[in-house]
Amino acid sequence: MSLIVQKYGGTSVGSVERIQAVAQRVYQTVQAGNSLVVVVSAMGKTTDGLVKLANALSANPSRREMDMLLSTGEQVTIALLSMALQEIGQPAISMTGAQVGIVTEAEHTRARILHIETDRLERYLNQGKVVVVAGFQGISSTEELEITTLGRGGSDTSAVALAAALRADFCEIYTDVPGILTTDPRLVPEAQLMTQITSDEMLELASLGAKVLHPRAVEIARNYGVPLVVRSSWTDDPGTWVTSPKPIGRSLVNLEIAKAVDGVEFDTNQARVALLRVPDKPGVAARLFGEIARQKVDVDLIIQSIHEGNSNDIAFTVTTPILKRAEAVAAAIAPALRSHPHAPAEEAEVMVEQNIAKVSISGAGMIGRPGVAAQMFATLAEANVNIHMISTSEVKVSCVVASAECDRAVAALRSTFEIEAVQEDTETERRGDVESNFPASPPLPLSPSHSTPPVRGVALDMNQVRLAIRQIPDRPGMAAKIFGLLAQHNISVDMIIQSQRCRIVDGIPRRDIAFTVARIDGDNAQKMLSQAGAELGWGEVVLDSAIAKVSIVGSGMLGQPGVAAKMFEALAQNQINIQMIATSEIKISCVVAQEQGSKALQVIHEAFGLAGSEKFVVPA
Ligand code: ADP
Ligand code: ASP
Ligand code: MG
Repeated sequence: MSLIVQKYGGTSVGSVERIQAVAQRVYQTVQAGNSLVVVVSAMGKTTDGLVKLANALSANPSRREMDMLLSTGEQVTIALLSMALQEIGQPAISMTGAQVGIVTEAEHTRARILHIETDRLERYLNQGKVVVVAGFQGISSTEELEITTLGRGGSDTSAVALAAALRADFCEIYTDVPGILTTDPRLVPEAQLMTQITSDEMLELASLGAKVLHPRAVEIARNYGVPLVVRSSWTDDPGTWVTSPKPIGRSLVNLEIAKAVDGVEFDTNQARVALLRVPDKPGVAARLFGEIARQKVDVDLIIQSIHEGNSNDIAFTVTTPILKRAEAVAAAIAPALRSHPHAPAEEAEVMVEQNIAKVSISGAGMIGRPGVAAQMFATLAEANVNIHMISTSEVKVSCVVASAECDRAVAALRSTFEIEAVQEDTETERRGDVESNFPASPPLPLSPSHSTPPVRGVALDMNQVRLAIRQIPDRPGMAAKIFGLLAQHNISVDMIIQSQRCRIVDGIPRRDIAFTVARIDGDNAQKMLSQAGAELGWGEVVLDSAIAKVSIVGSGMLGQPGVAAKMFEALAQNQINIQMIATSEIKISCVVAQEQGSKALQVIHEAFGLAGSEKFVVPA
C-alpha cells in the first residue's frame, strides 16, 4: 500500500465528464490499495478568464485582490470532484489551502511555501477518505491569515510540496500530454516522449519555458527526493519519471526558502578567448564554433553580447591546456569574419586572457529568488573582485574573475553562503547518484547507463524582454548594484551578459551589460534602472521586447565538443540571426527576433534528431 499524491491540471478537469473520468481513476487507485491526496487546478481556462475580468476593471489590480479572485477557481474544482467521488461510493472531502494549513510567505501572487500542516490530512486519510486539495493556494504565516497564491502554474508545486510534507511514496502529475516531451508538441507536433529525465535537466527546461511542470515543483522534488512522474489523464501509459539524487535530510520547515546555495566551486584551469567586432549577421557563430568543434576543442562557457553598431563580440572559455589550439582557430578565422572588407582597422580582433578562474555557487533553491545572484555579486564587490563574465542557470551562477583573486573570491562566497570548505565535488557526487529514489512500483524506468543524448529537450520562451545598460563603469560593485536593485523589486534576471569591449568615456573604462527579464517586469526594470543610472553614472537603458529565447538542455553535452556549433548552424542555415548567446554547463540559450522564435525551435529540434515519426495531437 502506497501513499500517493495525484495532481490534475486544468484540461484534465475541464468539464463534468472530465471530472467524472478523474473520479474513476482516483477510485481505481484507492481500490488497488493506496491512500490518496488529490490536488486539482481550476477547471479549463478558468484562471485566464478571471485574470481577464480583473484586467477589464483595472490595469494594475492589487495583488491581494488578485489572490482573492484567482483562488476561487480551484475551490470550485475541489467541491465538484469530491461530489463526483462520493457519488460513486468513494468517501472524499475537499479542502482549501487554508484549511489544510499550506502556510506561505505573505507575498501575494508569488508566495513560497513555508510549511504544511499534515495532522488534519492524515486524520482523514486514516478514515479511508480521499482528500481533495485546492492547488495553487495557501494561507499567509502572518496574523491576518491572508489567502495567497503561488504564481501561475503553481498547482504542480502544491502537489509536490504535499508529497514531501506527507512523505508520500510518489507524486503523479496528470496533464493533457503523455508526459515530458523533447519540446512543446503544440509548437512541434513531432516532439517525442521521454521515459525519464533528471531533475537538473527538467529544472532548466521548465525554467526556460517548458510549462509542462512548474519549475518550483521540480525544485522541491529535487531537494526532498520526491519521486515524480508526469502522465496523461486520458490514458494508462506510464509517462515520464523525473529522477532526483538522494536527498540530504532536509527539514520540512521553510520548505521553499531553505538554504538556496549548497556549494561553492572554483576552477583555476581556465582561459578566455574573445573575438571582438565580428559582423552581426546569421552564420558567424556557426562558422566559428563549427571550426572549433572540427578541431575537437571543447568550450565551456560561451557568451555573445548585444551588438554595438553592426558588430558583435563573442567570448568563450576553454581549459588552459587547449588554449593554444583554441586561439589558433580563432585567429585563423578572424580575417574571414571582418565586418568591413575594405577597412582592416575594423577587422575582428582576437583577445586572449589566460590568468582567469571560474567561481560558482550552486544549489536548487535559486529559482525566482533574484536576491541570491545579487548577493553573490555583492560579496565579490565587497572583496574587491572584478567580474569579467557571468553565466547563470537555475542551479548555478558562475563568474569569471582574475585568477589572482580566486582564493579571495571563494573565501568570501563561502562565508556569505555558510559553506564548509570541502564541497568542491558536490556536483560530481550528485550526478553519480541519480535514481536512487524510485518506488518499487510503478516499474523502474530505463537505467541512466543508457547513453545520454547530448540534448534532452528544446524550449522556447516568448515571455522575456531584453534590457541593455550602456556604458557602465568597469569596476567592482556595478553588477552588485544593478542586480541588487532588481532583486529588491523581486525581478528575476536571466542571461546576464557583459560586453567584452571596454570603451573609455570621460576617462573611465566602461562596458555594456545586457540581460533578460520576464515581460511583465520589463517596463518597471527599465524605469528603475534609468533613474538609478543618473546617480550611479551609467548611460542609457534600452528595452527590446521583440525577442524570443530558444534553449537546448542536456547533461550529455558536458565534455562533448560540437553541440553549440550544431545549434548555431541550424539557425544560420535558416537565416536566423543570433542576438545573444549564453551558456551554462547543461544548457545553451540564444536570443533571436521574436517572429523567428517558433521557427528557431523547430529547426533546432530537428537538427538534434529529436523529431519522431509520430505526431502528437494535444486535446483542445
Ligand atoms: P496543466 O493544466 O495540466 O497543468 P499545462 O498547460 O500547464 O497543463 O502544461 C501542459 C502543456 O505544456 C502541454 O499541453 C504542452 O503544450 C506544454 N509543454 C511545453 N513544453 C512541453 C514539453 N517539453 N513536454 C510536454 N509538454 C510541454
Ligand atoms: N489555476 C492556476 C493557473 O492557471 C494554477 C495551475 O493550474 O497550476 O495558473
Ligand atoms: Mg500546469
